[in-house]
Amino acid sequence: MRDNDGDPLLLGQRVVAILETGLRTATYKLATLMALIDHSIENVPANPDDVLDIPIPALAHRVLEIYWLQVRPFEGQILSQKTGAPNATIPNAARRLRAEAQVGTSRVPIDVAISRVPQAYERVIDEISLCLAGEPLRRLQRFGGSAESDPFLYDDAFLQKPSSSAKRVRGYSIELKPGVAHGLARLAGLLKPALEIMWVDDVRRMNRFLHAEVPDVAGHLFGRERAALERVREPFKDAFGPHCFYCSTHLPTGNPIDHVLPWSLVGIDGLANLVLACARCNGDKSNALPAVPIIDQLLDRDPGVLEQIASEIGWPTQRDRVVAAAVGIYRMQPAGVPTWSGYKQTTRLDIAFPPSWE
Ligand SMILES: [Zn+2]
Repeated sequence: MRDNDGDPLLLGQRVVAILETGLRTATYKLATLMALIDHSIENVPANPDDVLDIPIPALAHRVLEIYWLQVRPFEGQILSQKTGAPNATIPNAARRLRAEAQVGTSRVPIDVAISRVPQAYERVIDEISLCLAGEPLRRLQRFGGSAESDPFLYDDAFLQKPSSSAKRVRGYSIELKPGVAHGLARLAGLLKPALEIMWVDDVRRMNRFLHAEVPDVAGHLFGRERAALERVREPFKDAFGPHCFYCSTHLPTGNPIDHVLPWSLVGIDGLANLVLACARCNGDKSNALPAVPIIDQLLDRDPGVLEQIASEIGWPTQRDRVVAAAVGIYRMQPAGVPTWSGYKQTTRLDIAFPPSWE
């Protein structure tokens, strides 16, 4: 018997309910849930009823990756992510890693920091793992002010005795209950935007200087600024030609860089997920899921060429992640769902599993 009766809608309602009850004093619960969703998409089990084991350090990595962009100063100020505590543990750890890796305030993916300062990264993962095991994971499944946990996502009994040993926590994992990983991955397109809205509200509440007229908080927190990807434009034009990936039109200078797997869904900035696009295709595609032949074409690009660019500009390809996320996303879609297949064109999804992507 599955706890959520195999019903993704029920699962989604319960997830939203744990966030809507009670005042959130930190963004950690939101981060933990987002990390659970992200991990589920890239590791979705073949059988919908299967459990999914998530080592706590792997979850800590996902949480760190979310805060990685958020901790950059906004309008010259550090955003608080916890009521009355500008230096909360997790954002602070992310800021320290940025400083040690000397990446400044750039949007460079976290992989760059991992390769530059691997030991600092391991320390930060230990610290975040301890923090997650101590609070957000232990309390996530309590509704409102309830002292009782209602473990519908994972069994949290072993977390109820907090550990202060990073070494022990390194060995911990949580096991998502049957159907949960599948359900979270399937609901990602609905849940993630809802979590983002709650997150922006919380950050506004926790940072009084963010008045209504202050510009794009959501864009800052969730990395929607376009300019940040500009450094891949010229190398891509040299390698693949100055043409739109989707419609082959000749590109002017300053054309958009597009995330093929939507950024809003999987947040992968690696070269393997990026293409040059014309403004027309880029605007029309927006956050839509691309048609399967577009993914075929994306993954057909020579990995060696991408690796070459990666080493020249110091930006990872993340090709394995793109493949894993694509498999996860498309496995979740019901047959016949509309996908974007070009400017003002829609194709009903038709995909055979396993797909030929590798
Ligand atoms: Zn185009």
